Amino acid sequence: LVVLSRVDKHFGSLHVLRAVDLTVHRGEVVVVIGPSGSGKSTLCRAINRLETIDGGEIRFDGRPLPAEGRELARLRADVGMVFQSFDLFAHKTVLDNVTLGQIKVRGKDRKSAGARARELLGRVGVAAQADKYPAQLSGGQQQRVAIARALAMDPKVMLFDEPTSALDPEMINEVLEVMRHLARDGMTMVVVTHEMGFARSAAHQVVFMADGRIVEQAAPEDFFGNPRSDRARDFLSKIL
Ligand code: ATP
Ligand code: MG
Repeated sequence: LVVLSRVDKHFGSLHVLRAVDLTVHRGEVVVVIGPSGSGKSTLCRAINRLETIDGGEIRFDGRPLPAEGRELARLRADVGMVFQSFDLFAHKTVLDNVTLGQIKVRGKDRKSAGARARELLGRVGVAAQADKYPAQLSGGQQQRVAIARALAMDPKVMLFDEPTSALDPEMINEVLEVMRHLARDGMTMVVVTHEMGFARSAAHQVVFMADGRIVEQAAPEDFFGNPRSDRARDFLSKIL
């Protein structure tokens, strides 16, 4: 579904993605881990073209990523993204947060968009908060609304960039639980996280990045049981 071939990205003189090859199949959960600054966020952002790349190619659903206009808006809807900071629209209610994109980008009418929004808010366990504003919600609730908002666009893949790292410990699990359900329901997902329990239990592939390169890529049982590179062993010894 998503194919990166020899992807390169520089920020000025900084080479942040180096010849990255990665294939994400339909229904697959790919967990990306690695030290700070290794290029994990840049990789995610490149997939929905929040960053452009300066070498190689990214294909989504068989086609190169569109550069602009309607096609780009559609790509961003097809590739849902959830960030570390919850970034909901602060001046809109929870319900509006989950409704607006469906109307603007997917062209739905207000009634069916609202019904779908309520269904998704129920699924992530925040139906009772529909008429509140984001600031009135806990971090875990806001992040679940952000997930519902992305899901409302009927994405083909969901990207999660450290979705739980800004959360208090007691809220981490409620968000991971929603993500586990999504994975079980067959959603294609790319997840940057430090939650190794999630990686072990939900990932089909674990991708370990360092210095802009994919250093290792393996099934979780192989990666955690027998990391091949010193970089990965060193990283795991610090994080586990
Ligand atoms: P973290 O675990 O801290 O989130 P990361 O693996 O997500 O790290 P990236 O955010 O992808 O790393 O950043 C990779 C490198 O690119 C870092 O050195 C970062 O400082 C740099 N970088 C990221 N975004 C920009 C930008 N917009 N302009 C300049 N440099 C950037
Ligand atoms: Mg990051």
